[in-house]
Amino acid sequence: MPRDQLNPQDDTPIILTNLLALTQSAIGPVQTVLKTATALLSNLVSTNGRVSAQLVETHQTATHGLAWLATYSQSLEQMQNWAEDLSKVNKFGETEQLILQITFGEYLWQICGGIQMNQGEILRLQDVGLDQNDMRVLMAPAVQTLTQNGNTQAARMRLVTLMQEQSANVIVGASGLDDELEMIREQFRRYAVEKVEPFAHDWHLDDELIPLEIIEELAEMGVFGLTIPEEFGGFGLSKASMCVVSEELSRGYIGVGSLGTRSEIAAELIIAGGTEEQKQKWLPRLASAETLPTAVFTEPNTGSDLGSLRTRAVKNDDGDYQITGNKTWITHAARTQIMTLLARTDPDDDTYKGLSMFLAEKTPGDDSDPFPTEGMKGGEIEVLGYRGMKEYELAFDGFTVKGENLLGNEEGKGFKQLMETFESARIQTAARAIGVAQSALDLSMQYAIDRKQFGKSLIEFPRVANKLAMMAVEIMVARQLTYFSAFEKDEGRRCDVEAGMAKLLGARVAWAAADNGLQIHGGNGFALEYKISRVLCDARILNIFEGAAEIQAQVIARRLLE
Ligand SMILES: Cc1cc2nc3c(=O)[nH]c(=O)nc-3n(C[C@H](O)[C@H](O)[C@H](O)COP(=O)(O)OP(=O)(O)OC[C@H]3O[C@@H](n4cnc5c(N)ncnc54)[C@H](O)[C@@H]3O)c2cc1C
Repeated sequence: MPRDQLNPQDDTPIILTNLLALTQSAIGPVQTVLKTATALLSNLVSTNGRVSAQLVETHQTATHGLAWLATYSQSLEQMQNWAEDLSKVNKFGETEQLILQITFGEYLWQICGGIQMNQGEILRLQDVGLDQNDMRVLMAPAVQTLTQNGNTQAARMRLVTLMQEQSANVIVGASGLDDELEMIREQFRRYAVEKVEPFAHDWHLDDELIPLEIIEELAEMGVFGLTIPEEFGGFGLSKASMCVVSEELSRGYIGVGSLGTRSEIAAELIIAGGTEEQKQKWLPRLASAETLPTAVFTEPNTGSDLGSLRTRAVKNDDGDYQITGNKTWITHAARTQIMTLLARTDPDDDTYKGLSMFLAEKTPGDDSDPFPTEGMKGGEIEVLGYRGMKEYELAFDGFTVKGENLLGNEEGKGFKQLMETFESARIQTAARAIGVAQSALDLSMQYAIDRKQFGKSLIEFPRVANKLAMMAVEIMVARQLTYFSAFEKDEGRRCDVEAGMAKLLGARVAWAAADNGLQIHGGNGFALEYKISRVLCDARILNIFEGAAEIQAQVIARRLLE
């Protein structure tokens, strides 16, 4: 065996013997720990056999910790499936083996010692109610071998060497996706390298809207109708294809990777909840990007607790609705033609049951007059990152929505209709997070090669190589979780938990990659001139929108405990 594939201390191979069998054996003990924790917490937060929302909140660290533990368990399972599938087609090479081994070494250690919910909150198994006896199952030989010898310095250094040797590959390690999806990836990667990456930083620094030509070109490439059924003018492709497209466009620039998000939300709302006429009217226009939508849900006093929002929709005698109230944080509000707008139609019901969803038409604005529609005003919110579409606060006073534009022609269904879109939206956001993390890796890898200190390239220092290796490894974990939830969605199976896990982990991975990427850039990373400074700002949003990390963990935990 060549020397660079051996541990320098004792000349043993870096890759553990029978790796796939070893990692498979480590999954059972993790599942046992998860099962014990779920049973203990279920007991703790239930009264009369039913989960109590109040008790889930009282024991929030434990219940949210359970969501993280389950996310780690699911990550290990999906990485195992990925590796086994690659192995069957002889694609489980040295790079992929190192990624698998480091993942298991790291995630198993974190399960034993503390899972990073974020930098400041570390979840210990005792927090989810486990005692030493419950944890003993983790003393299994496979877990011990992987924790001791999985994520070693030699493994990380070897992975980084391979990453340099294979830098012509589009991503680090085989994705496990089929050739058709990989062709789509390459097509969008080429587009992003040519038309997005060279300009994104200036769009960000100048706080400009992404040029309309980009939207037109993406429309021609089918981005806005990717998953809309063919009968309604779309391409009828899988959610997995949507992941690959979102990933590669976001790798170019999160703003461009997010252009399709609102179209995806609007199309999902209409497909699941619209009348036949609404489908016929709006879906072809969304697919071609003739109609660009914006999502209008959040209010100044209502963010995570969306069910309690207050904007009112009052029905006139002629059947149309008058909208009154304030909304905020509305992305791409000015340049768009319709709003998926959530408002309260039943003033006597202050819960989610009084809410309805509208497809509210408006006239698109421009720089001189962003909101020309009667009954509606808006102002821009200046932001750190995630620019390119701009965010606005909106005020509605006597704004009219046609009666025929009540989604599904039914009042009181708005919140439920929105919930039905969350799976897709979270899968797409997880894919955007992967793209952002990948761009941090691309930038910092190149910088670490080019920049020399103490007579060496930065990449030769173990602490710098560690960061790059862990970015590559965790990007693959987030990818596999995201693809898994997309496949579940494509198969028509409920996947709110899986999509939530992909979003939860993906957002953390993106932030860690951006933060460590900036660290590799040293002082230059702090200069606006360097692209990594933008990536840091862009990465930060992923843990806030489409369900903040805490809300995501809450949703996952509730489902696990029910
Ligand atoms: C750049 C950007 C773009 C956006 N685009 C859109 C858009 O296009 N359309 C739209 O409608 N909205 C949009 N949003 C709004 C976004 O969805 C909300 O910011 C998000 O839902 C969080 O709501 P909030 O900001 O009111 O935070 P809050 O709900 O006030 O939460 C603040 C903090 O408290 C935590 N928290 C809240 N409740 C709990 C709880 N029960 N337990 C534990 N912790 C809790 C949250 O996790 C968060 O960390 C956007 C936001 C941003 C920043």
